[in-house]
Order: sequence, then structure tokens, then C-alpha cells
Amino acid sequence: MDQVYFDNSAGTKPDERVIKAMMPYLEEKFGNPSSQFYPAGIEALEAVTEARGKVAGLVNCAPEEIIFTSCATESNNLAVGGLAHANRQRGNHIIFSAIEHYSVMYQKERLEKEGFSVTLVPVDNTGIIDLDRLEKELSSDTVLVSVILASGEIGTIEPAAGISRLLRGRDILFHTDATAACGVIPVDLGEIQADAMTFSASSMHGPRGAAALYLKKGTRLRPMMAGGYQERGLRSGTENVPAIVGFGKAAELAVLERASRLEQVKRLTGKLANGLPSCSEYLHFTGHPEIRLPNIVSFWIEYIEGESILLWLSASRVAASSGSACSSNISGRDERDLSASHVLTAIGVPNDICAGSISFSLSSRNTDEEAEYVLKIMPEITAKLMSMSPWYGDKIKKGGN
Ligand code: PMP
Repeated sequence: MDQVYFDNSAGTKPDERVIKAMMPYLEEKFGNPSSQFYPAGIEALEAVTEARGKVAGLVNCAPEEIIFTSCATESNNLAVGGLAHANRQRGNHIIFSAIEHYSVMYQKERLEKEGFSVTLVPVDNTGIIDLDRLEKELSSDTVLVSVILASGEIGTIEPAAGISRLLRGRDILFHTDATAACGVIPVDLGEIQADAMTFSASSMHGPRGAAALYLKKGTRLRPMMAGGYQERGLRSGTENVPAIVGFGKAAELAVLERASRLEQVKRLTGKLANGLPSCSEYLHFTGHPEIRLPNIVSFWIEYIEGESILLWLSASRVAASSGSACSSNISGRDERDLSASHVLTAIGVPNDICAGSISFSLSSRNTDEEAEYVLKIMPEITAKLMSMSPWYGDKIKKGGN
């Protein structure tokens, strides 16, 4: 066991079959899909078209509803800014959930400078959006609602189909960021009925450098880039053919192997969730206990910094990630980083005793041996950090237990 990789929300290992499918397009098949007067260009366009069909098949939409981009951040920026601006005649008000990924959340300030008003709708302490509150915030000025499909940090799955039902008939657009969900659980646009949806190859054992924005036929979108009119003018710039081909292969494999992948991650996260509480009585799981991504186990431990746990895990060859520290006096971070605590804050984690959470995000490549190893080292790490914690020391001095 070289390394235990439990940080799949940050990117998955590309599948060997994906790399094999990509290689010819990195080597001899280097044509540009816009060059349709000679075979190399024709061949590149055919490869992109085939991949588009496979990616559309993963989420159950028409191939022409897929816009290829470079990453989920780009898709989220294109969707939120692009939908708001292109449909501004309908209204100036936008709604996000309070637990959006930074690539949606950090657009708030920019949109407000551009004259939009942006409302954040709260979630409950399991991370589920408050649908009544969402409904109350809707007005005749609301043009767009953007709610993450599932959080890659705490795992909670949002009621996306319920949100579209709420918006139906009100002429309000719905975008959902499915980056953490897509490729892990079935994501069916026939059910979700969103107008736009973001997802990425790197979450499903595809390569970096390819992501998608689903855009429902007939939906108006303002492009971010002017250029050569690729992707129907909505995302100009020469297509990253090898990465798109890899995305297509990864999407195809995600469909074919869905059942076995799901079974494997469920078993391993079940094992972790059963074993982790014995490392500390101060451990709290985050996210919804059932309505959650099956590949994520997330938690925080009172009085211990999430980042300290990460460092000790890393020293033991375990890669994981930390939902950032949620208190300025503990983290001492700059202002922009401080706002990184928004997910933990939104679910009401108390910032006087929480100093960051841990998120283990698994893939079907992980093994029982790896989960058992992590369960073996976590109690030692926790005990060591608890004994060093000044906050825990203070608590003991004050007579707590
Ligand atoms: N949205 C979600 C839900 C994510 O988890 C991530 C990170 N994997 C992103 C967007 C951004 O992805 P990227 O950094 O690849 O653009």
C-alpha cells in the first residue's frame, strides 16, 4: 500500500482505459476539429462528437445540449454569469444555496457589482436546503436559482427535482452543480429537469481539462469568450480533443460499471462510518445521515484542527481533505480564506469548538485494507492531537470532561 487516496472530491485517478483512449489524440491524431478540409480535422471532430454522445448518455440529455469546457469552475461561471446576463430582461435577482462551491459562491460579489442582487438560502444542520425559505425568497424579479446537487465536502444531496418543481411555471431558470455527484450516483436530467448543469471528467476517473455544461435546448446563455465559434459560439476556443475523448470514455465506463462501483464505495464508507466514532467521543459526522453521496465520510472532532489531522494523516501516507477551519481566532487566515468556512458555518457547526472538518472521499479503487488502515491510525492521531490541543487543555482546566 503506497498511499491511501481518500481525496476523490479533489479529483480521481484517471482510469487506464481512459488514458489508452486519449493517447492517439495526444500523439498522431492531433487535428483541430474546426479544420474540416482534411482528414485529421474530420477525425478530431468525429472523436469529439462521439464523446459528446457518451457524456450526454451519462446524464440523459441530447448530445447538442452539452457544451464542453475546461473544468467545473468554468462551467459554473459560464452558467451563473451567462444565464443571469442573457436573461436579464426577466429580472435582476439570483438565488444560491448557502453551501455552494466557491466557483458559484465567489460570483456573488461580482454579480452584485454588476447590479444583480444575490440571496443565499440557508440549509439545515444536515445540509439540506430550506425549500420553504427558497419559495419565500422567489419574486417576480428572480431570474436564476443555482443550488449544488451534492456537496463534495459534507456529501449531502439536495432535492434538485423538488427545486425545479417549485420553479416550474414561474419563468425562473435553475442551474445545479453536479460535479461531486456525477459519476458517483445516477444523475438523470429527465428527473432533475434543470435548465443547466455542471459536471466534470475529473470526478469520474477521467482526465483533468474536460468538463461540461448541460444547457437545455432553447435556453439563452451569454458566452464568456469571443472567438472561433466552437461549441455553438457558447464556448469559443479550440477543443481539448484528448481530454474530451477521455471524458467520453470515463462517462461510458461510469454508466457500465455504476452498480459495482456503488457497491464498493458504500461498503467502504459504511466500514469507516462504523469504525470512526471509536476514535473519540468528541467526533461528529457532518452532512445528512442518509441522503448523501455514498463515497463521502465527513466529520469534525472537537478541539482539534482539521488541518492538523490532515498533516498527521499525510505523514502516514493518507490523502484526505479538510473542510476549512471555521473560526478566525483559530485559523488566523486572511479574509478570503475565512469565508472558506461557509459550508461548516451554514450547517451550524459551533465555531468555538470546531477548528475544521475532515472529508474522506472514496472511489471504487479504494480497498478494505485501506479503510482498515485508516481506522487503525485515526485513534492514535486523535489522541496525540487532543493531548496537544490548547482548547482541550483549557476545557480540562475549567473542570469539563
Ligand atoms: N463544484 C464542486 C461541487 C466541486 O467539488 C468542485 C471541485 N472538485 C468544483 C465545482 C470545481 O472543480 P474544478 O476545480 O475542477 O474546476
